[in-house]
Amino acid sequence: MDDYALVLNAGSSSLKFCVFERPVGEGWRLEARGQIEGIGTSPSLSVKGADGGRLASEKLDSVRNGRDALDALASWLRSKYGGSRVLGVGHRVVHGGARFAKPTIVTPQVLAELHELVPLAPLHQPYNLAAIEAVSERLPDVPQVACFDTSFHRTHSPVVDLIPLPPDIRKAGVQRYGFHGLSYEYISSVLAEAAPEIANGRVIVAHLGSGASLCALKEGKSVDSTMGFTAVDGLCMGTRPGAIDPGAVLFLFQSLGLSAKDVEALLYKKSGLLAISGLSNDMRDLLGRSEPEARLAIDYFVYRAAKEIGALAAVLGGIDGLVFTAGIGENSDEIRRRICESSAWLGIEINAEANATGGPRISTPDSKVSAWVIPTNEELMIARHTGKLLGLI
Ligand code: ADP
Repeated sequence: MDDYALVLNAGSSSLKFCVFERPVGEGWRLEARGQIEGIGTSPSLSVKGADGGRLASEKLDSVRNGRDALDALASWLRSKYGGSRVLGVGHRVVHGGARFAKPTIVTPQVLAELHELVPLAPLHQPYNLAAIEAVSERLPDVPQVACFDTSFHRTHSPVVDLIPLPPDIRKAGVQRYGFHGLSYEYISSVLAEAAPEIANGRVIVAHLGSGASLCALKEGKSVDSTMGFTAVDGLCMGTRPGAIDPGAVLFLFQSLGLSAKDVEALLYKKSGLLAISGLSNDMRDLLGRSEPEARLAIDYFVYRAAKEIGALAAVLGGIDGLVFTAGIGENSDEIRRRICESSAWLGIEINAEANATGGPRISTPDSKVSAWVIPTNEELMIARHTGKLLGLI
């Protein structure tokens, strides 16, 4: 194989990666996509080629932490692409704060600034940065690029990002940031080709996966999003509640005596679809069940999505298009149908046949507002940024 770029998305218990071959002509070519899962419990490596064929599937008993996982990945890469050079490494970094409005080449100064943002994303940022540090120790001459989930939303007006608390608290960084930015940026970048009639209009993109949010796009730029200071805000998610009354959180502390750690675990890991159903955080699983609790969880998920679509439609002054993406948005015709039916008042008329086969256009030809399914590709977005910033494409 030719020289390649590596894209890394390092989390607390997994290391996801993509290998992109050096661009031929226009863009990057995906060579492999994989992950090391179960870091700290029962780690394993699985890798697929661009055609979906299995390249690796093995247990990694010696991997105890993120650094071990990177070592294991490095040794797999050497065994597979031994003669090729790593041209650059692009990282998904959850938080770029107010300052990083664009992907950035990592320097010691940048890394220090990113460490200052750890308190704003304690469950993700430390792992993202540890991966950057581990790569720079092992490959000191390979340039690295940090791509942020927050950057795409830095086009918001000050009113949109305001959290109305006293100035000293806001100075500590308490404002709305928005997340899933790499997904929205990718969708925005392909709209002209995938859905040309709405590309320059007012569009709501629904990123519905384990984490879920909406983004209001005007002429391809983010003007608002349902996620705020953290990725807990907004829509109901697999294990996160989405927007809840902060008074309920106070009640958890004051009346139920929960600790900060308990509340953190509750809000990030034990709420949302999982809490409502008591069965599963996985939408596909819930859709296949008949228990009333599973139906209630799905009803609430759809209700919240439709409600927030209404709110963002108000922000945009009406919409021209609605785009579904990510695991649920790309794969569940039932959820898309129900959200579109709940949003019929906006002028969305779903085409049942097109919806059942996944679109890409899932609204009727006469629908005033068009609806679409467009698969997201955050890793390609990171590869593109990395290539551009490092002068590779
Ligand atoms: P993440 O990348 O945040 O882990 P994904 O974008 O992969 O999440 O989305 C995961 C969600 O997508 C899960 O709730 C899963 O059940 C759901 N999903 C995947 N395929 C389907 C399907 N065919 N029908 C319904 N839901 C699906």
